[in-house]
Amino acid sequence: MASDQFYDLIIVGGGPGGMSAGIYAMRAALKTVLVEKGAPGGQVNLSDEVENYPGFEHISGAELSMKFAEHARAYGIVEQSEEVTAIEPGLEYHTVKLASGESLIAHAVIIATGGSPRKLGIPGEDELYGKGVSYCAVCDGFFFRGKEVIVVGGGDSACEEALYLAKLASKVYLVHRRDALRASMILQQRVKEDCNIEILWNTVATEIESGDDGVNGVMLQDTQTQEKRQMPIDGVFIFIGFVPNNQLVPAGTRMNADGFVVTDDKCETNTPGVYAIGDLRERYARQIVLAAGDGCLAALAAAHYVEVRKSQQAGAACEAPAGLFESN
Ligand code: NAP
Repeated sequence: MASDQFYDLIIVGGGPGGMSAGIYAMRAALKTVLVEKGAPGGQVNLSDEVENYPGFEHISGAELSMKFAEHARAYGIVEQSEEVTAIEPGLEYHTVKLASGESLIAHAVIIATGGSPRKLGIPGEDELYGKGVSYCAVCDGFFFRGKEVIVVGGGDSACEEALYLAKLASKVYLVHRRDALRASMILQQRVKEDCNIEILWNTVATEIESGDDGVNGVMLQDTQTQEKRQMPIDGVFIFIGFVPNNQLVPAGTRMNADGFVVTDDKCETNTPGVYAIGDLRERYARQIVLAAGDGCLAALAAAHYVEVRKSQQAGAACEAPAGLFESN
């Protein structure tokens, strides 16, 4: 095995959690590689404005991501831009397999693969994705200048994105299945005060309809009366939470019913030396600052784990009977 493929720690995912883990791991002098298939930052890149990361009253998601990456790079972290195909825990070492066929091996692995937008699962959603159906207002909002759109959801994401779209679209309808929003009070207040946003309470979208140029309407249903009505619309933005990207989580890892990884307070999974952090981990809230905090915790715990493993291995080598390590 090439020594440059052997690490103390492999971090899978370069969002706020992964980058923060990278900073702490490098400061702990761990030989670390961070593998990320896309741009550093992950989902945060899609946020127009971040207002709750301490130290930054206003910063775009893309700029904050870049700052995380620059900070980790300042400590000399090795980055590998590749897709991970499998994470295979072992008794001695853990293996991370890459799409290129290469394998990376390490004492410890931190999985920081985050989550992806949850889908509504209604007719027209998949077929019209990119043709009026979107999961990212910052990416696609520009195409809806002067047009009417609906935003589905009632959480922080839906409210933030509705506020962003309200600056571009001629009208934003926020479609929410209940009579109360889940979002933080400050966002609720801003949405309610924005005269370009109308909230359609107790309403769900049941079908997205297509015209010649993509989306041209949506079928809405009142959740109380079950009454249906057709509404002409140019775009449908869906923000109904997200699902954890747990495809790489090794079989046998404890997860909750929703597929979030269950860890201890050090972010360690039920496999020693394998950590899950950020949006992938079961927790009360999902925030950039929490993912960054997880990255810190997991890297510090991994540093201790690696140190213990190395001293155990060194001890075993000293105690081994003479000749055991001699080649024939
Ligand atoms: P979320 O908080 O889970 O909210 C999802 C929303 O979508 C809820 O209002 C939910 O309705 C609705 N919903 C779920 N499934 C639905 C379905 N099948 N049909 C219709 N509506 C559906 O998700 P999120 O807004 O994406 O936020 C995820 C996490 O990231 C949260 O912890 C949030 O605080 C955090 N976040 C924070 C910020 C920030 O602080 N700036 C920004 C974005 C996200 P119910 O309310 O009826 O369940």
